[in-house]
Amino acid sequence: MIELNLTVLNHTGLHARPARELVNLAKKFSSKIQIAHGDRSGNAKSLISVLKLGVASGGEICFQISGEDEAEAAEQLRQAVLSGLGESVSVNGSHPESESEPTSTPVEVPEVSTPKPRPSDFSFPVDLRGVAASSGLALGPIFQLQVTTVSSDTSYQGAQAETARLYKALASATEELSELSAKLTADGVTDAAKIFDVHADLIADGALLDQVKAEIDAGKRATKAWADSIESYATELSQMPDPILSARSSDLRDVGRRVTGHLTGASHQMELPTEPVVIVAEELFPSETAMLDPNNVLGIITASGGATDHAAILARALALPAIVSAGPDILKQANGTKVLFDGSVGTIALNPSDALQEQAKAAIEKQRARNEALREAAKQMAKTTDGHLVEIGSNAGSLEDVQRGTENGTDGIGLFRTEFLYLGRDSAPTEEEQGSIYRSILEELNGKPLIIRTLDIGGDKVVPYMDLPEEANPFLGVRGIRLSLSQLDLFKAQLRTILTLPDVSAVRIMFPMIATLEDWSKARAVVTELQKETGVTDIKVGMMVEVPSAAVLADLFAREVDFFSIGTNDLTQYTLAMDRTNSVLTAQLDGLHPAVLRLIARVAEAAKAAGKWVGVCGELGGDLDAVPILVGLGLNELSVAPPLVGQVKDRVRNLSYTDCQKLAKAALQQTSAAAVRELVRKH
Ligand code: PEP
Ligand code: MG
Repeated sequence: MIELNLTVLNHTGLHARPARELVNLAKKFSSKIQIAHGDRSGNAKSLISVLKLGVASGGEICFQISGEDEAEAAEQLRQAVLSGLGESVSVNGSHPESESEPTSTPVEVPEVSTPKPRPSDFSFPVDLRGVAASSGLALGPIFQLQVTTVSSDTSYQGAQAETARLYKALASATEELSELSAKLTADGVTDAAKIFDVHADLIADGALLDQVKAEIDAGKRATKAWADSIESYATELSQMPDPILSARSSDLRDVGRRVTGHLTGASHQMELPTEPVVIVAEELFPSETAMLDPNNVLGIITASGGATDHAAILARALALPAIVSAGPDILKQANGTKVLFDGSVGTIALNPSDALQEQAKAAIEKQRARNEALREAAKQMAKTTDGHLVEIGSNAGSLEDVQRGTENGTDGIGLFRTEFLYLGRDSAPTEEEQGSIYRSILEELNGKPLIIRTLDIGGDKVVPYMDLPEEANPFLGVRGIRLSLSQLDLFKAQLRTILTLPDVSAVRIMFPMIATLEDWSKARAVVTELQKETGVTDIKVGMMVEVPSAAVLADLFAREVDFFSIGTNDLTQYTLAMDRTNSVLTAQLDGLHPAVLRLIARVAEAAKAAGKWVGVCGELGGDLDAVPILVGLGLNELSVAPPLVGQVKDRVRNLSYTDCQKLAKAALQQTSAAAVRELVRKH
């Protein structure tokens, strides 16, 4: 038996989507896999069991794996958990996209790609209060959503017949769910569509089905056994202290009701609005939210539910203002009653006066125009008030990330982390596979620049099929360019794929973890050799500056490279000697530390003196406090998480380059990161 202890890095812990990834991976192995967290444990092949562990971000989990393929299972689970189970966790433990709403409670915002409206500055006398679930103002007549259920059921037909009835109902429900998922995907709400994939997994859950079958065997009708089992699991989930996990009880009841419908022949009839209204309901299930026509919905208020319910997530995906948990009084309001609410703060006014309605309409229009302007403006490049241009690119590890970048107005991909193409599979991608992904990316970018970083494997990014030796300090070991130089075939295959793309004019190649001039010369020589082989004469080759030695010697490197991109995640880790994966150190691991800023300043100066382009592709680029300093230090580009592009461009447009230069100079004289932040905020 193998025991494996790991830390969950995902921003919102093991919530539905990563839990699903984990379970699906565990199911691929014949070994018995138990997972434990604190004093709870369960079967790692059961989604409900995994959810019930209630693992929050930074939580420790322990796998106990026993069986023929235990070694392979342990390695793949280890690698999958550390690389974020399908979510792009940054290895210092924070979710890159979480920066978009730094002060809000953690909700599953990363599942939603639609830009969210900013909080309004419009206030009004409040009649009722609820929990802010999707920001924006809404004004309109109330429409009480009623769901009527017509059902019939048979008496107990014996265990075999009841089990057959159950499976038939489950099959029909699964088919419906896949249709719903397809509808949302076709409507462009791809991320929200995945909610229904999770529903499909919930009803196929081994632990749940075992319980239902046991109850049927004990003499219960399929309908009753199903409803009781769903309710017992949902109650248990709803009592979890983590709001994201407790909100999954609503998903379980929703999908439970769907199967019950098929078992009893019940139909849920929902009268839908035919003109724009504010939907009011006791609780809105995800499937009901998905049925609503956004053109006829001004906003949503529910009496119960939580801000992390999937219904709330869907509301955000559809950019509909929403309040949940407003209490029972909202249900007593007659249809047609005018209501005004602010989904950013959870305030509700009933029967607003004519004057207030007029003001609200003006505020809604202003808000709509602002959101539109921000998104529209992001299509253009950003210049400071005194005309200094700063490129705002985005980071990516997949084609989907690139698409998110272009949707949000990116100026290009400042960092494409190619190692993600190698993770989560059994063997390295072939040159054809890699080439086809790069081609799709270039097509999506339509001429915008793409910086492809060569493999940065090692550290916490482990690729099991490479069979690399264990290292005592992987972050100080054979990582990044060191690994590529020790596995030349792999490195050459990657470079050859890049150099043989039909059009490389938009592509730049970048090496990770360059620490010495020797590293650079060796890696550059490999590209030169392959340029000769492929006949590509003109390709820009640059390096990441993420090791302090590279920053210290930036003037020497600047003579050799075509460009620099500063990886502030590693540069901070190595400068402050603080492991980026150590959650105890997270609060102190701040790229605005003057020691890191002085290194960034040194690189920017060296680049400028040599006439070379320099960007920042670490998380610091998307930190709104850091933006004025980085601009002031003379960075040509900031490459940030896709949802941040609009905000960072907006921030740049409201800065004066001259002021930023003064601010940056003053920041270098501060004694701590906290002092730098205070300086920026005062400024
Ligand atoms: C960095 O170190 O800042 C960086 C961008 O690289 P990664 O986060 O992939 O190590
Ligand atoms: Mg790095």
